[in-house]
Amino acid sequence: MQFHINGFQGGSPKISLPAEGRELNQGLLPEELDVLIIGSGPAGLTLAAQLSHYPSINTRIIEQKEGPMILGQADGVSCRSMEMFQAFGFAEEVLKEGYWVNETNFWKPNKSNPNEIIRDARVQDVKDGLSWMPHIVLNQARIHDMYIDVMKNSSSKLEVDYKCSLLSLEINLEDKYPIKAIVEEKGRIKTIKAKYAVGCDGAGSIVRKAIGRELKGDREGQAWGVMDVLPSTNFPDIRFKNIIKSADSGNILLIPREGGHLVRIYVELDKLKQRGESKNITLDRLIEASKKIFHPYTFDVKETAWWSVYEVGHSITDKFDDVPEDEIENRFPHVFIAGDACHTHSAKAGQGMNVSMGDTFNLGWKLISVLTEKCDEKLLHTYSSERQAVAQGLIDYDHKWARVMSAPVGSNTVSVKDHFIEGGTFTAGLSVQYQPSILTGKTTYQNLASGFEIGKRFHSTPVHRVGDGKIVELSETIKVDTKWRLYAFADFSNPMDENSAIYRLCDYLENSPQSPIVKHTLKSEDIDSVISIYGIFQQRAHNLTFEELPSILKPLIGKYGLKDYEKIYTPDFKNDNNIFDMRGINKEKGCIVIVRPDQYVSNILPLDAYEELEKFFAEFLLKR
Ligand SMILES: Cc1cc2nc3c(=O)[nH]c(=O)nc-3n(C[C@H](O)[C@H](O)[C@H](O)COP(=O)(O)OP(=O)(O)OC[C@H]3O[C@@H](n4cnc5c(N)ncnc54)[C@H](O)[C@@H]3O)c2cc1C
Repeated sequence: MQFHINGFQGGSPKISLPAEGRELNQGLLPEELDVLIIGSGPAGLTLAAQLSHYPSINTRIIEQKEGPMILGQADGVSCRSMEMFQAFGFAEEVLKEGYWVNETNFWKPNKSNPNEIIRDARVQDVKDGLSWMPHIVLNQARIHDMYIDVMKNSSSKLEVDYKCSLLSLEINLEDKYPIKAIVEEKGRIKTIKAKYAVGCDGAGSIVRKAIGRELKGDREGQAWGVMDVLPSTNFPDIRFKNIIKSADSGNILLIPREGGHLVRIYVELDKLKQRGESKNITLDRLIEASKKIFHPYTFDVKETAWWSVYEVGHSITDKFDDVPEDEIENRFPHVFIAGDACHTHSAKAGQGMNVSMGDTFNLGWKLISVLTEKCDEKLLHTYSSERQAVAQGLIDYDHKWARVMSAPVGSNTVSVKDHFIEGGTFTAGLSVQYQPSILTGKTTYQNLASGFEIGKRFHSTPVHRVGDGKIVELSETIKVDTKWRLYAFADFSNPMDENSAIYRLCDYLENSPQSPIVKHTLKSEDIDSVISIYGIFQQRAHNLTFEELPSILKPLIGKYGLKDYEKIYTPDFKNDNNIFDMRGINKEKGCIVIVRPDQYVSNILPLDAYEELEKFFAEFLLKR
C-alpha cells in the first residue's frame, strides 16, 4: 500500500482528509449533480465507492430504506469479486470474517433405503490456480458496510442518502444536465438535475421503466425457501457446502456461513401454479421440508436469523442504457441500469450480488474517465454492450443449473456433481470474456502470452518486487482508479542495455511526441496518471542494477516528485513461481499486456508495436 506521496499524513492510511469544499457531513441533496445513483444495494454501492475517490465529481447515492441493511439476501462472494475487493482495499477484512468455501459435497438417496441420504462425492470447490482469491460466503449486509466505509473514508466523504426515494425521471438531451429526477427526500419533494443517472434500484426499477426498457423472461414456477439458521444437528458435513438430493422430499443447497455456527439453507419447495403463490409459504414449512431431506440425520433449528421464499425466474432487458440501438451513432448515454434492475436469476448459482457488482465496476471507471475529461464519451456505449452479454451468459447458465438441481434423482440429465465441476470457472466469476471492440483487441498476438487471455480478467501470479524484495501478487498494482496499466514483460536480453527492446519501449513511452503517455497525459499530472507502465524481467533481482533501468519505471510522482519503487518486478524464484512460465509468455520476444482499470486484459502487443499502441489508445483517450 502506497501513501505519504503528497506529504506525511498521520493516522490510518485508509482515511483521507476531506478534499477542498467537502465537509464531513454532506447535507441535503443539491439541485445539480454530476452523477445520481439510485439504490444502495451491491450495484449502487460498488459505483458510489469508486466515484467517492474523485471529489471533483459531484455524486450522490439515494436509498428509499431508513438505513443500512442489517440482515441480508445474497451471501456468495466469487473469487472474481474478491479480486475486485482487493482493489477497493477491503479483501483482507472479507477473508478474515467470511466463511471459506473449500469443498463442496454431494449427497444422494441411499439405494438400499431411499428414505435416507448418503454422501456421494466430495469436490474441491475452486480448482487450484484459478484465482489468487478464494470463494467466500459473507452476508450481503457486511459487504455493504465495507463499501460504506470506503465512501466515508474517501476524500469526498460520500454517504448514502437514506429515506430518499426516486419518484420519476425524465431526460432532456438539450439541457447541460439532461436528467431531471423528482425525489422525495425525508418527506419533501425535490427536483434534482444530473449529468448522469444510474438505476441500481433493483428488479422493480423506476429508472428502467423511465427509459422504456422492460425485463423480459420466464418464470419456472419453482418455489425455493431460504433461511439463515443456527441448527443443532448430527449431519456430519454441516460446515461444508453441500448439495443434497433426496428421493422424493426435494433438494437442499446448504452453505455454511461466517462465524462457525450459522448456516444458510436453500430448500426446494413446490411447483407453483401462479405467481405470488409463494407468499403463503411459512418458515415452519421450510423447516419441516428440511428435516425430511436430512433424514436419517437430525436437524433442529434453534434460531432463525433471516428467511424468505422466492420463485425462480430469469429475465433481462435488451439494453442497459437509454440509447436505442439505431441512435448509437448520434448520441451518448446518460442513463444506465445495473444489477437486478436489468437482469434477474435464481440465487443458487450465487451470482446475483457478484454480477451486479461486476456491472458497476465496469461502468464506474468509464464514467469517471469521461467526467474528468480523459476519455471520449463514446466509451460509455461499451457499458451496455459488454455487460448485457455477461448477463445473458449468466441467464443461460442459470437455466441449466436450475434444471439440473430440480431434475428427479436417477433421471438422464448430467449429474449435479459433473455440472458443478464443469461450471467452476463460471461460478468463480472468471468466465467473462469481453469481445473485440474499441477496448478489447483481437487475438493477433495472443500467442505472446497465452495465459493472459484477451478480454478476460488479468490472471495474477506472485512476483518479486525489486525495489524492496517483497513477494506480492502482480495485480496488487491495480487500485480503484482510471489508470491503464501496461505490463511490459521483457525479452531475455540485458534490460540495462539501452538497445534492448524494453529499454527502447520505455524511452519511446517517456519521450516520443507520438507516445500515448505523452499525448494523453497533462504536463501538470504525474507521468503515470493515465497510463502506468510496469517492467517484469526474467533475471533474478540481484542481477538487475536498479539505477540503470529505464527511468519511466521509477517515475517521480506527487507534489515532492518522490520516486516510485513499485514498478519493477522479477519472477518469484524463491517459491518457484515463474510468471513467464505460468502465463505462457514468450521469453525470447517478451510482450506488452494492456490491462484496463477494471482488471481485464485489453490487448497483447509485441514490445516494439509502437504504432499499434498509439492507435489503440487514440480510439478512446482524449489528446490533452
Ligand atoms: C428477498 C431477496 C432475497 C434474495 N436472496 C438471495 C440469496 O439468497 N442469494 C443470492 O445470491 N441472491 C439473493 N437475492 C438477490 C441479490 O440480493 C441481488 O441479486 C442483489 O442484491 C442485486 O443487487 P442490486 O444492487 O442490483 O439490487 P438490490 O440489492 O435489490 O438493491 C436495490 C436497492 O434500491 C433501492 N430502491 C429501489 N427503488 C428505489 C427508489 N425508487 N428510490 C430509492 N431507492 C430505491 C432498494 O431499496 C434497494 O436497497 C435476493 C434478493 C431479494 C430481494
